[in-house]
This record gives sequence, C-alpha cells and structure tokens, in this order.
Amino acid sequence: MDTNSCDIPVNHGFSVPARVSRDSNPEDTIVNIKGVEVGGSEVVVIAGPCAVESHEQLFETAKAIKAGGAGILRGGAFKPRSSPYSFQGMGEDGLKLLSDIRKEFGLPVVTEVMDTRQVELVVSYADMIQIGSRNMQNYPLLKEAGMCKKPVLLKRGMMSTIEEFLLAAEYILNQGNEQVILCERGIRTFETSTRNTLDLSAVPMLKRLCHLPVIVDPSHGTGLRWMVPSMAKAAVAVGADGLIMEVHYKPEEALCDGQQSLSLNEFTQLMADLRKIAVAVGREIR
Ligand code: PEP
Ligand code: MN
Repeated sequence: MDTNSCDIPVNHGFSVPARVSRDSNPEDTIVNIKGVEVGGSEVVVIAGPCAVESHEQLFETAKAIKAGGAGILRGGAFKPRSSPYSFQGMGEDGLKLLSDIRKEFGLPVVTEVMDTRQVELVVSYADMIQIGSRNMQNYPLLKEAGMCKKPVLLKRGMMSTIEEFLLAAEYILNQGNEQVILCERGIRTFETSTRNTLDLSAVPMLKRLCHLPVIVDPSHGTGLRWMVPSMAKAAVAVGADGLIMEVHYKPEEALCDGQQSLSLNEFTQLMADLRKIAVAVGREIR
C-alpha cells in the first residue's frame, strides 16, 4: 500500500474489513463457476440479455455469445424495475429456460436474486447468484447469500462508496462464503448524459484493497450501446478480471434495457478487439 510522507497507509480514512482485506489473504481469490475461473490470468466475459424473455431469445443469444468467446451466460428471471408496471421478469419459468440453455451450450449461468425468500429457488437453478445494485445493502439478503454454497456476483450500489461496497462483501464472507465477485456498474453523479458514471478507478482501488475478483458492467455503467465497447476495452486495460455485458439477438425488441444491449454482431466484433487489449496488459480472453 502507498504511504504518504508520514508513513500512514493511504486509503482515505477507512479500514478495510477483515475478511475481504489483502491483510487476511494476500493472494488473489479465484472464484470458480462450474469450471470457469474468475480472478486468474483469463479475463472472463459474462454476456446475455438483461431479462430472459423466451426460449428463442435465450437460445440465439447464448449460441452467439458462446461462439464469440463468452464464458458465462447472464439473464434475469426476477427483474428489479423502477416502475411496477414494467416487465418484471419470467420468474421460475425464466430460471427453467436458463437451465435448459445451460444444458444445450454447456455455459454456466448467473441470474439475480432480489429477495431472501427467493434464494433457495434461484440457487437451485443458477451456477452463480447476482445481488443487484439496488440490493447491495440488503443485509438479510447478503447474509442469506453468505450461507448458500454458490458463488455470488455482488454489484456496487449506485450510491455506495468503496468502503460500503467492501462492507457488503464482508457480510457474505462473514457467513462462510468466500466465492464473491465484485462488480463496478456505475454510480449516480450529477451527470445525466450517461445512465450512470462508470467509476473505472474503482477497479484498481478494489484490487489493491481486497483479494476478490473485480469485474465491470459497461452496459448499466453507460446505458448507451454505442459507448459499451469503449468502456469495456478501458475496463480490461485498467485491470478488470472480467466483464458483464448485455447482449440481445434483437436489441430493438428487448423487453428490458435494449438501448444498452449489444447486437450479436457488435458483441462478436468487440470480443476480437478485447483480445488485443487483454494481450497488451498480460491477460487473455478465450
Ligand atoms: C442487471 O444486471 O440486469 C441489473 C439490474 O443490474 P444493476 O443491479 O447493476 O442495475
Ligand atoms: Mn439490465
């Protein structure tokens, strides 16, 4: 850790929670999702639609992202929507589709859990559970995730500091689950031209303070399809262990977040570009 002229460790005044801290575990933690390792030399790409909508949608999207080199399929079955009148997700039918498509393509799946009462159900289908931005400080949910035996993808709260983010992860580790991946997905600032302000400085900061893998979500981080490739490349350059990106076979028809979803061709092109960046920073992408 850097020191200032008085030899005081510089982390702007908070102490890193014990279990996530590099003091407790100097080595990088590698999270294993059904054989896909996040936190090692490979930069792992998680891709798929915002929400599971149909067999056709998930099948076509999964086929293309697998061919493009993604390691994990994403897709929400329970969606946290700002409006109660928006599509809320397919629920258990969506989970079933995810598990069908997993069998078809051999891709592990990650999907969001929003409520402690859903954990058992979601864990029974998913290879990794996602705790979304809006639930980063849902402490009962964090504890429940800490008691389950599946890896957890924890997204940064849109109003959360790095300290609060690390404390949220600490809740999960404190229950005995060390398989946690942190995800920077943008924070709210005064800026309105992007959906959120993607805080890429969180990546080196988190990697310095804690031993957990850190990935970046340029889709929610920008809200703009055309900007996703630039920020994805920047995320790899800045040391992210992976990316999670929304991809849809027909973005203009998506029931959720189509404006920030890459088309299948855009995704394939981006993967080719990302491989070059990865090599330049001593990593690889499959
Ligand atoms: C998502 O990944 O679809 C999602 C809702 O993300 P966030 O929790 O970061 O808004
Ligand atoms: Mn989304």
